[in-house]
Amino acid sequence: AREIHLTRYPEGKPTLDIFETVERDLPAPKEGEVLAETLYLSVDPYMRGRMRPDVKSYIPPFALDEPLDGGAVGRVLESKVDGFAPGDLVVAQGGLGWRSHGVVPAGALRKIDPSLAPPSAFLGVLGMPGLTAWAGLTQLIRPKAGETLYVSGAAGAVGSLVCQLGKQKGLRVIGSAGTKEKRDWLVREARCDAAVGYKEHDAASLTTALRDLAPKGIDGYFENVGGMQLEAVLNCINDRGRIALCGLISQYNATEAPAGPSNFANLLTRQVLMEGFIVTRFMDRTEEFLSEVAPLVAAGRVKHEETVYEGLDRAPAAFVGLFEGTNTGKMVVKVAE
Ligand code: NDP
Repeated sequence: AREIHLTRYPEGKPTLDIFETVERDLPAPKEGEVLAETLYLSVDPYMRGRMRPDVKSYIPPFALDEPLDGGAVGRVLESKVDGFAPGDLVVAQGGLGWRSHGVVPAGALRKIDPSLAPPSAFLGVLGMPGLTAWAGLTQLIRPKAGETLYVSGAAGAVGSLVCQLGKQKGLRVIGSAGTKEKRDWLVREARCDAAVGYKEHDAASLTTALRDLAPKGIDGYFENVGGMQLEAVLNCINDRGRIALCGLISQYNATEAPAGPSNFANLLTRQVLMEGFIVTRFMDRTEEFLSEVAPLVAAGRVKHEETVYEGLDRAPAAFVGLFEGTNTGKMVVKVAE
């Protein structure tokens, strides 16, 4: 198998020279395992958190000189698990990511139904990012029709589904993204009511822009980014507003402790509920999520954009690209047909 290893931990933004491609022989699968080939692998922002050996988190750090890991879609080649046969398409939560082939334990495997969507969609809109979007919106923000929703990182894997589910629920939806192409996509394809940039703003000017775009104030905020966008939202959020704290990507490469919002007190005076969440809390709601979102995807009522990097060796570039905004929708790496 070909595998991508991490040779040292990054400081600040990850660079390509901390990764290495290694050839290794795989053991034969034992009872309760399958051997699979990787078709698509997922790179995700949370993986940056696994590159900090000194920070306690909900998931252990990656080991150096071992294969990196993550979600992947693959094809079973050899099976020692009841119910899985050669040729089956599977999504693996671990054991198949960042490598051409892997031996995967049964517990990390789920069969996918290729009639619902193309295989790579099970890493995005019908996979972990999709469940994250659905859970944060429906279980934490719990919006009512007519309310206003602001989504940061709106053109990414999670954000783009949040925006579209928000429109399905009758909300006014405003998304932020780093380029004009992404903002055009948000309005034209994701049907957002408005899209706003963040690179050209500070908290004060974004506050002014949001007051204009959300004249009735913001009721729900799906937070993917943090920093000055949170500060601007706290200026515009309504009484009893709800914030789903999903991600803080603007801080993942920070080398110094980031400053908190100066208007934190608005959480108190406006009685705002802000709740952090990790998607694993909602894993047991996967069927409910799929029963709501898969039909929307199949009917073309939810767009699922992808950015595909070709070839296992491009996985590091795809990962680094997440922090440069080179993706629209889900970032995936195509490893084999
Ligand atoms: P995305 O597909 O959104 O990719 C990352 C995007 O973030 C980039 O395309 C870029 O878009 C934007 N970005 C990168 N750096 C910055 C920055 N400094 N400031 C503002 N925007 C930036 O990734 P995902 O949809 O997979 O993840 C989105 C967020 O959700 C992340 O914070 C992630 O950690 C979090 N997440 C949390 C989960 C949980 O369980 N809580 C589960 C899954 C994801 P642009 O061009 O707009 O800058």
